[in-house]
Amino acid sequence: MTSTSKDFLNEFHWLMDVLHNIDVGLVVLDLNLHIKLWNGFMQNHSAKTSADVLDECIFDVFPELPEAWFRRKLQSVTVLHNASFTTWEQRPYLFRFKNYRPVTGAAEHMYQNCTMLPLTDARGQVNHVCLIVYDVTEVAINRLQLQKANAQLHHISRTDGLTGLLNRKTWEQSLRHEFKRFQRYHHACSLIMFDIDHFKNINDSFGHTAGDEVIRRTAATLLEGLRDSDVAGRYGGEEFAVILVDTDATGARVVAERLRTRIEAASVPFEQHVINFTISLGIAELSPKITDSTMWIDTADRGLYNAKRSGRNQSSVYHL
Ligand code: GH3
Ligand code: MG
Ligand code: MG
Repeated sequence: MTSTSKDFLNEFHWLMDVLHNIDVGLVVLDLNLHIKLWNGFMQNHSAKTSADVLDECIFDVFPELPEAWFRRKLQSVTVLHNASFTTWEQRPYLFRFKNYRPVTGAAEHMYQNCTMLPLTDARGQVNHVCLIVYDVTEVAINRLQLQKANAQLHHISRTDGLTGLLNRKTWEQSLRHEFKRFQRYHHACSLIMFDIDHFKNINDSFGHTAGDEVIRRTAATLLEGLRDSDVAGRYGGEEFAVILVDTDATGARVVAERLRTRIEAASVPFEQHVINFTISLGIAELSPKITDSTMWIDTADRGLYNAKRSGRNQSSVYHL
């Protein structure tokens, strides 16, 4: 053997060593999608040796591969001679490998970014493609955890912790939104403000924990009777508010009375006690006389005041 071909062989061995030991997956396919190279990373993670897979069609070895998608990608790589990339966000993985990394034990499978490269022969023709598979599990898990935490923070910032209803700030945003919609479209829209009767007595007689339980039950009963389009919020301590879209005062009165009677019939067990309670409700339908959302609240509040003054456990519509 000449020294040049010896050098070449040596170089080839080093290169193969590098390819087999590098910490990314390398797969070479011919244009019939038969596997021509299967490096150490792929062997370790798939538990399939080179001997198992060489010269096999990749879809026979990995039937779970998205064949139509894979062939489309391959087509553009071989015809246009362009590299093609997919990220874990587009497709979490190409090969379903178990995730063994202890730090990222939260993931069941390895997240992968993949590159598909055209490989040209000495005449410049593409006869093979190379798949490069990167393990991006740690990045993906960090990103997903961050997204989850952000979603939780977003939820917490919008809702009331005791009842899960919208908090006052968020609910008031909806109120302003509905008010603007009314100015443009003049569809019927009503507001119910309600308040638990003699709630202070409940706190004084049974304690704050019992009071909290009553507030929670009130919110749950409220939610049971609403449509998806209605917007319910906790306005204050034991005060609640609901926007009823496409509902006039007569319809709102029906909703209010149904809620009132359900609350009247409910009883909250607390320690050895059973707590019964009632609510009073004020209703205001939007009209051109109401010139901003604060005035809308004030109008419903006047109805609530009238309901309280007339003996509580009742609902009252206020017309301006
Ligand atoms: P009325 O029939 O006129 O509405 O009388 P009330 O006793 O319900 O009204 P008042 O506004 O005097 O009392 C409300 C009480 O609600 C006072 C406050 O300590 C209590 N409260 C406010 N927020 C909470 C809460 O989150 N949990 C509990 N347990 N009590 C609360
Ligand atoms: Mg009150
Ligand atoms: Mg009250």
